Order: sequence, then C-alpha cells, then structure tokens
Amino acid sequence: MNYETVIGLEVHLQLNTVTKVFCGCSTKFGQKPNSQTCPVCLGLPGSLPVLNETAFLFGIKVALALNCGIQSLIKFDRKNYYYPDLPKNYQISQYDMPLAYNGFVDIPANLTGLPKRIRILRVHLEEDAGKLIHPEREGHSLVDLNRTGIPLLEIVTEPDMNSPQEAYDYLTRLKSILEYLKVSDCDMEKGSLRCDANISIRPSGESKLGTKIELKNMNTFKGVKSSLEYEVKRQATVIDGGEKLFQETRLWDADKMITLSMRSKEEATDYRYFPEPDLVPFSVDKAFIEKIRQRLPELPEAKIRRFMKDYGLSEYDSNVLAGQSEIAEYFERCAQVYENRKAIANWITGDIMAYLKTQGASPADLGVSPESLAALLKMIDKGAISGKMAKEILSEAIETKMAPEKIIADKGLSQISDSGKLEEIVMQVISKNERSVKDYRSGKKNALGYLVGQIMKETKGAANPEIVNRILEKALEARQ
Ligand code: ADP
Ligand code: MG
Ligand code: ZN
Repeated sequence: MNYETVIGLEVHLQLNTVTKVFCGCSTKFGQKPNSQTCPVCLGLPGSLPVLNETAFLFGIKVALALNCGIQSLIKFDRKNYYYPDLPKNYQISQYDMPLAYNGFVDIPANLTGLPKRIRILRVHLEEDAGKLIHPEREGHSLVDLNRTGIPLLEIVTEPDMNSPQEAYDYLTRLKSILEYLKVSDCDMEKGSLRCDANISIRPSGESKLGTKIELKNMNTFKGVKSSLEYEVKRQATVIDGGEKLFQETRLWDADKMITLSMRSKEEATDYRYFPEPDLVPFSVDKAFIEKIRQRLPELPEAKIRRFMKDYGLSEYDSNVLAGQSEIAEYFERCAQVYENRKAIANWITGDIMAYLKTQGASPADLGVSPESLAALLKMIDKGAISGKMAKEILSEAIETKMAPEKIIADKGLSQISDSGKLEEIVMQVISKNERSVKDYRSGKKNALGYLVGQIMKETKGAANPEIVNRILEKALEARQ
C-alpha cells in the first residue's frame, strides 16, 4: 500500500542563563556532580521557587522569533511523576496556559523539496531534570543533580512535516534562528538541544492521523533523519503484515541504526497536572512584549533576502552564509572591504567552511580575519599571487594562525607578473624545445600547453599564467 508520512517534532532547548530557572544555582556545564544545588532545586520541604526573569525573557524572544502569539495569562503547572533524577517528584512545567502558541517556521526550498511552512503549536518554559549515570559493571547508578532546574524551552510543532528530510530542514532552520537569538549554545552533543520525533503513517488520501510513535535518543540532526527513515519502513512493514501499531516510545540505536521499543506512551492524565501553587499566574504587559520584538536581531530569512539583494548572491549562497550567524558576520566584514562578493562567498562556503566543519570550529577560532581574507583576494586580482597559491597560503594561515600577508612576505611567495622577466624565461624555454615549437607552427596548437607547462616548471609555478600565455603566443607567431 502507499502511505503518507506525518511527523511532528518536540525540541527541548536549554537556555544559557547564568542561573537556574527557579533558584540562584549556577548552570555552568561540566562541574563537580551535585556541587550546584540548593534546597529549591533539590526540592526540599519549605523551599520556594522564584522565576528567573532572564529565562522568561529568552522564552519570549524565541516565541516572537517563531511568530507565536504570547499568552495573555501565563501559568505554571506541576507535572507529576517519579524518577530518581527528579527529587521533587514533579517537574514545574506549563500545561494549558503556556508562554506562547500558534507560530510558524518557514523552511526554505532545497534540493529535495519546496519551501514549506511548519506551524508551531506551542512554546513553553519548564525545568530540566537531573542526570543518571550508570557505570558499567558496577551494579549501581549515580545521580548528578547539577542539571536539575536548568531552564528548558519546549518547542512543539503541529504534525506538518511529511518526510524525514523536511524534519531535518525544519531543525536546521530552527537551530539557525535560535543561534541568532543567542539564547542557547544549541549543542546537541552536550544535550543543550534535544529532539523527540513523533511519526505516524497513513494510507495516502486518508485524513485521519495514524498511530503516533515517539522516537527519542537521537543526538544529531542526521540521527533524527535516519531514525525517521527507519521508522517509515518499519511501520509500513507492520501494517502491510496485517498487524496493528500501538502508541509507544522507541529509542534510536545509532550503532545498529534501528529503533527499539522502550515503553508504551503515557497519557497527559497519567501526570495529574495541576497548577503550581508556589508560582502565581501572571500577565505580561503588551508594551513590554513589543519592546522585546523591536530588539530582536535580524533573523535568518531576512538576512538571506538582504544578502541576495545587497550583494547579488544566489539564494543558495545566501542560505549557506546566513545559516550561521557567525559565518554571516564574517562574510559581511569581508564584504565591507572587498567588492567581489561572489568570490568571497566561494572562498567562505568552500575552503573555510570545510575547515570549520572538520575541526568543529567557529569563525572566531579561525586565525584568518575577514580583512586578511579580503587582502588575499585582492592580491589574486592584482596578479600578485595565483588562485592556487592563495589556497595554499590560506590553508597554511589557518593551520599556523599566521597572517596570510606575513606568510607571503616570509616565503617570498609572490607571483611573477613582471613581463620583462617572464619574456626572458619564455625565450629560454622556446630555444630548449624546438620540437614543440615546430609542432605548434605546423598547426598542432596543443603544443602550447606543453610549453606553458615547461615555463611553470622553470618558475616553480610562480609565473602569472595569463601573462605567460600572452608572451608565448606572441613569440611563437612572431618568428614565423
Ligand atoms: P504528547 O502530549 O503525547 O507529547 P502531543 O499531542 O502533545 O503528544 O503531540 C506531540 C507531538 O506529536 C506534536 O509535535 C504533534 O505535532 C505530534 N503528533 C501528534 N499526533 C501525531 C501523529 N498522529 N503523527 C505524527 N505526529 C503527531
Ligand atoms: Mg510530548
Ligand atoms: Zn538550586
């Protein structure tokens, strides 16, 4: 049978506030276990939570950037469940009156799909739980409560994605927006961005949604995509085999590339949600929200359009450059001092981004400033160095963190563009290669390539090829 895939995503984002969401404990990553706790985040009797204003502000910022409406009355609720990483036995979350609702993220057209609007169902603020550690073969588990109470923003979409690729594209654009807002480090490997994927299939043309399966434990966007691809096939096989799917949570095993059943899914009623009595519901001044809206930075979509318009870049290049705020900034600094924007785009999206990707580095770690890159490109234009030399200089500058200008000066690496000097070398090569000269003159024009090669060899690749060609052709024609 033919099936349609339906996907909805829940993203949990750790906000990078200095302190936790309901107490003053530090949120610093990688500290000694249980060193960042207090009566509030340990859930000791009599302690009272106080909402972190910055966490709330970050939440509003994200909600506005995702085109959401802000709830006029905001309330926190207790979500009750028992787990050893949750000392209070409930999580402070938001149930029926979340921070924000009804937004959208537009994903751009790509190689596999058309542009599409993914609706955001809700954005709510909650607290993170602690972390369980299970040392191998020791027969016990450990708990670290440093993470307990770190602010989390949950961003939930409508079931609007119809392929694993669309889910991947949505996550990429969402992450890009979140990075622009600087509210989180969005590092999936550190767990500051986590994604649960909900997926069902239904016969093509059917309007009722199929049985939803929730996937967890993916720690890269590629993992999300692969787990969804696996699940599309698995669900179709189950239904085609005449069996029924039941609502459950499955875990992605990235090594085996399969999903495994973890538990049947709880219903909201199982959590016995009720209003958090220690935090009163409150409303937010509309003028305050407007002030935050006005202070939002330029977001990816606007930047992409501006790059196309102001710099004449293709949509593809603009997408790649504006996808990461730091790359966009690097490009714009370069564009301020160098006119050929297409050339800048090529160098950044090519060599520079390839390097950053393999090193997991950001442009701030790059030894080459945007101004140095511009200087390098200007030297190519002047014929002082060749494109090939520039590539080598750039990679050496990146490796050694030495300024490209200095590398050129130290190595005397400049291209020979002096025509007097080149003419001399051309004449030498002509006199040493009579055969090829004869061939050329008798009509075998490709003998020219061989002669150019000899000149490049003679100059160790430093001759300006355009000038060489010009001199050589002239010399060969003249002597006829
Ligand atoms: P829960 O409360 O169990 O987490 P929700 O109804 O809040 O479930 O939905 C969670 C996510 O699952 C949302 O992103 C939603 O779009 C998505 N979703 C809901 N039903 C389906 C379905 N049948 N197939 C795929 N995704 C779904
Ligand atoms: Mg859920
Ligand atoms: Zn605390």
